[in-house]
Amino acid sequence: MLQSRSPQRPDELLLEVEPTGAEGVAAAVGRARAAGRGWAAAPALQRSAALVAAAEALAGAAGEVTDLMVREVGKPASEAAAETARGVGILRYYAQQALDPDGETYPGPSPAALLLSRRRPRGVAGLITPWNFPVAIPLWKAAPALAYGNGVVLKAASEATALALRLAELLAPALPDGLFQVVPGGAATGTALIERADCVSFTGSVEVGRQVAIAATTRGIPSQVEMGGLNASIVLPDADPQRAAATIAGAAMGYAGQKCTATSRAIVVGDPARFTDALVAAVEGLAVGDPAEQRTVVGPVINEPARRAVLEAAEQAAAAGGRLLTGGRAGNGAGWFVEPTLVDRLPPDARLAQEEVFGPIAVVLPAADEDQAVAIANGVRYGLVGAVFTRDLDRALTVAARLDTGLIRVNAPTSGVDFHAPFGGEKDSSFGPREQGKAARELYTSTRTITVLPEGG
Ligand code: NAD
Repeated sequence: MLQSRSPQRPDELLLEVEPTGAEGVAAAVGRARAAGRGWAAAPALQRSAALVAAAEALAGAAGEVTDLMVREVGKPASEAAAETARGVGILRYYAQQALDPDGETYPGPSPAALLLSRRRPRGVAGLITPWNFPVAIPLWKAAPALAYGNGVVLKAASEATALALRLAELLAPALPDGLFQVVPGGAATGTALIERADCVSFTGSVEVGRQVAIAATTRGIPSQVEMGGLNASIVLPDADPQRAAATIAGAAMGYAGQKCTATSRAIVVGDPARFTDALVAAVEGLAVGDPAEQRTVVGPVINEPARRAVLEAAEQAAAAGGRLLTGGRAGNGAGWFVEPTLVDRLPPDARLAQEEVFGPIAVVLPAADEDQAVAIANGVRYGLVGAVFTRDLDRALTVAARLDTGLIRVNAPTSGVDFHAPFGGEKDSSFGPREQGKAARELYTSTRTITVLPEGG
């Protein structure tokens, strides 16, 4: 049985449901494919209107969805409300994208001839998503898939199944029957979905993402795989240490660091003392506690293994010679709380500075100059987000241009995503086309080139 529990009150069972087996997944894909035929053939205006109605349905239930998000995945209430609002924005944005030009024309062999390319949907999009953005990630995949005429089957993370099922219920009245379905389950359900879908979009860990991309490629279907990050924020000597520290503290520890875009490494050029003191103060000033409270910034981590991973990473860093600047202990109470943790005096090749922990833990690394800072920032297998803090535009541009990441932020937190702009990383962080913005159409459509000649030439 699949169970979903509240991280702040693990005794609270939110959902118990039978995982969907291979036959159930095949049936769901079959229904989505059947519904998708009519949907793809319908006028684009109709698809657009349906997505607007879906946005309104979500907006109308925003309070309830936000509360469920707080309870099911422990996201602090203010962030959860912002995510629900973002979900509404995503649906509205792709409602408009459904009306965008769906092709291009090229010079043909004669003035009367047409040579054009047109996009068409792939069929059924199989979506496999993590628990940390349980509304935004399913929607930033599902909304473009639907806008461009596909059916959707979503396999959400088991930890966020109650939300995924509620989302499907809310959207159902706006969409044709069977077009958007959720199949509860874990790895086996995900594997079965890849076996049946016409394209796959995955977000999650590197280990699973790699397997997903291989399985999809073996079947000859396109995939898009968004994976982990180990994002660095480089602080140059001219940056205001207090301001940089406040921004980096929030990016590292907000939602207990459980974001692929969280800052895990602060790289300080020059003497790190002033910035480090400011960062410790900023982290210690973050409100930790019950995610249902508006002021909370750091709630619990998702489950006991996640808490253990953070505590073990802190212990291991200390054993390797690191200095625990703050945190490193489990929090009080029954939930999966762990103190926001900062470590310094570790070399850049230490485990904590090389592998994603996915919790409220970050490392401060000194760098002698910009060259060394860039080398440290790029010296990991991930390449999702890189940030630079400085008041000098010239240096900002020069350093930013050398970062091997898909997203670059200047004087801004590494966390934070704009759904109307392309999103994705380099190296082990991403595989396949970018998602979000107009880039999303690369996965959810294919292009046909069409030649039309007047009769007789
Ligand atoms: P995960 O890889 O454990 O699971 C992700 C999804 O894959 C879940 O739905 C899971 O049930 C499913 N799954 C697991 N094994 C599978 C298999 N063999 N075949 C098919 N599906 C399978 O990740 P998680 O713990 O849910 O999320 C945390 C990870 O997600 C972190 O590494 C984080 O960095 C990453 N993440 C990345 C982004 C991004 O956009 N780059 C965004 C959010 C989270």
